[in-house]
Amino acid sequence: MNIPIKLETTPAGRVLAGKVALVTGSTSGIGLGIAQALARAGADVVLNGLGAALEIERAREEIAAEFGVKARFSPADMTRPNSIAEMIAATVAQSGRLDILVNNAGIQHVAPLEQFPTEKWDQILAINLSSAFHTTRLALPAMRQNGFGRIINIASAHGLVASPFKAAYVAAKHGIVGLTKVTALETAEDGITCNAICPGYVYTPLVEAQIDGQAKAHGISRDQVIRDVLLGQQPNKRFATVEELGALTVFLSTEAGASITGAALPVDGGWTAH
Ligand code: NAD
Repeated sequence: MNIPIKLETTPAGRVLAGKVALVTGSTSGIGLGIAQALARAGADVVLNGLGAALEIERAREEIAAEFGVKARFSPADMTRPNSIAEMIAATVAQSGRLDILVNNAGIQHVAPLEQFPTEKWDQILAINLSSAFHTTRLALPAMRQNGFGRIINIASAHGLVASPFKAAYVAAKHGIVGLTKVTALETAEDGITCNAICPGYVYTPLVEAQIDGQAKAHGISRDQVIRDVLLGQQPNKRFATVEELGALTVFLSTEAGASITGAALPVDGGWTAH
């Protein structure tokens, strides 16, 4: 039997040199942290997301300057399949390849089922789930051509278990765990892996936006919301960090992650061990 042995030829720390990574929703929070981690590991990155043009341009420039990689930005709206198609086509045209796709863009809305606005349901399903179907189906030809690909879907602990009042989010996150498994099975022999990362609570603008509403709803302080409501489920009693998620994404993107596919990896301080 021929056992392949690979010699490490990239300088320490630059394990993704020569790779091109696209991270949806990377103008803020987890996505921005993951883009920075991939760039630190030597990958060229394509940022995407909403926000103020000046701030996005500053983040793009900082990544390029600090890590010595190419950094581009796509303003594609993840609710629009045509816009997603343009982003993938432009990435492949400009970079000549697409090695790492991180489906991270996501939003939240909290309301009881009977009052859940139907337009919010549609928007959450489009951004948190359907966008990953579109990016994946459009990125696969370039990955197959190179015989290498890493698709990393940022799901959630809510892709594995539920909480009340988050119908659309929980449905979308369970859906993306399913999409992850199908993608893994269809690409398993082609040098491509697809995994879902399932974070517990991470302190980002998405979580900050829930704190005041929860405090009001429960009639308690912000600190109590953080300790008893948000981290009430998280046995290690601290937020997971953007840096932890970036490090895991880099690991999955290397050769060391080649046999990990179709997995939903909790990064939740023990939440889903309950
Ligand atoms: P965030 O609000 O800081 O970032 C969300 C990103 O998505 C931003 O860049 C935003 O511009 C982008 N985005 C939103 N709508 C978009 C659209 N229509 N088109 C393109 N981009 C769009 O949130 P975050 O906490 O960093 O969340 C990132 C991902 O991590 C989400 O999928 C979220 O569900 C998931 N997640 C977050 C936590 C947490 O505790 N923060 C936990 C588990 C999973």
